[in-house]
Amino acid sequence: MQIQIDQTRLLDELNTLARFTDAEPASEGTPVTRVVFSVDDLRARAWLKKLATAEGFEVREDAVGNIFIRWTGTEPNLPAVATGSHTDAIPHAGMYDGTVGVLGGFEAMRALKRSGLQIRRSIELVMFTSEEPTRFGIGCLGSRLLSGTLDPDRADALQDKDEASLSSVRTAAGFAGPLSTVRLSPNHYHAWIELHIEQGPLLERENIPIGIVTSIAAPAGYRFTITGFGGHAGALLMPDRKDALCAAAELILSVEKHALASGAIDTVATVGTCDVHPGAVNSVPSRVVLQLDIRDTDPGRREAVMQAIRRDCEELRQHRKVTIAEELVNADAPAQSSPNTVTLLENICREQGISYKKMVSRAYHDSLFMARLAPIAMIFIPCRNGVSHRPDEYAKPEDIALGTRILAQALAKLASE
Ligand SMILES: [Zn+2]
Repeated sequence: MQIQIDQTRLLDELNTLARFTDAEPASEGTPVTRVVFSVDDLRARAWLKKLATAEGFEVREDAVGNIFIRWTGTEPNLPAVATGSHTDAIPHAGMYDGTVGVLGGFEAMRALKRSGLQIRRSIELVMFTSEEPTRFGIGCLGSRLLSGTLDPDRADALQDKDEASLSSVRTAAGFAGPLSTVRLSPNHYHAWIELHIEQGPLLERENIPIGIVTSIAAPAGYRFTITGFGGHAGALLMPDRKDALCAAAELILSVEKHALASGAIDTVATVGTCDVHPGAVNSVPSRVVLQLDIRDTDPGRREAVMQAIRRDCEELRQHRKVTIAEELVNADAPAQSSPNTVTLLENICREQGISYKKMVSRAYHDSLFMARLAPIAMIFIPCRNGVSHRPDEYAKPEDIALGTRILAQALAKLASE
């Protein structure tokens, strides 16, 4: 089957979407800030829905604002084949993260329609609400609710930094109704494929245009609160100190040491925030809050690293005379791609002489949660220097078009099953 991707139009649409942004223009790259339910997010949604309606696709939205764009097949009662991603962006991010999967998915559907293909199963494009945790502190809000991974009441009670609840924010944005209605049944979709930029350097480094994701690493988040004893930086003598920041420094190094010692390249652990109380130059730190992000493709190995960190915490409590409280923020299970869908993507690449690489996704995506609803796979395309979440994020037009074409071919095959 001949499928022509309209690369010019797809690039134009990516550029148009990038203009719905809160960010100031920069001298380099295209800064995009599009936080969920902000004015620009709502404008971007309205624009996307208009494009979809003009194309003759059906548009549906749920109570959390996930958008479903459906091209109905000849057997509309069969579970649909689905694709999609997100269009929200963290502050000062780039224009390709998520958007390539949404607009690429849209162009894939359009290209199949243009080709005159009759589809048996419907094909549906999903734009997820709040893949990024920027506003409500938890990522993949939309796909967590779709897959029943997040309790609807807990979700509605989440607050942004102005203490506005998700419930009030989504209602103000025009998405009413109970969040319990968002959840889909486990066999709602026949298959799911997400197209995304790699957000890492491997494909570019090896000059390979397509990555086929075989598993998505499982992220877990922990908060450590270390409490010592504060005081005047001049008066409190060194032997009497219980400096919470010194203990935190040892804990951070312990995290690095044990992640390195796991023996697997797929283990990564990061302490990305460190709040020091009272945070004055002439005051001994009495309390420090650290946030740890730890990821692995193997949850057992991730837990083994956590156990080693906990043993070090015990030792720190003793020799630094501090208390250390550990709190689990979230722990998600890793997802495996469906072997059949991976094989399908491999066959498409092989038949056309396109080189590809099977790989692990170390960043998490909505596909992690869609794996609970359907057999999944992801298609990665290279991004320059592996850079993402920055204004200079860049993917080549020909790579975007190629990823879109492979997605379209896979959707066509799956829709015929
Ligand atoms: Zn993304």
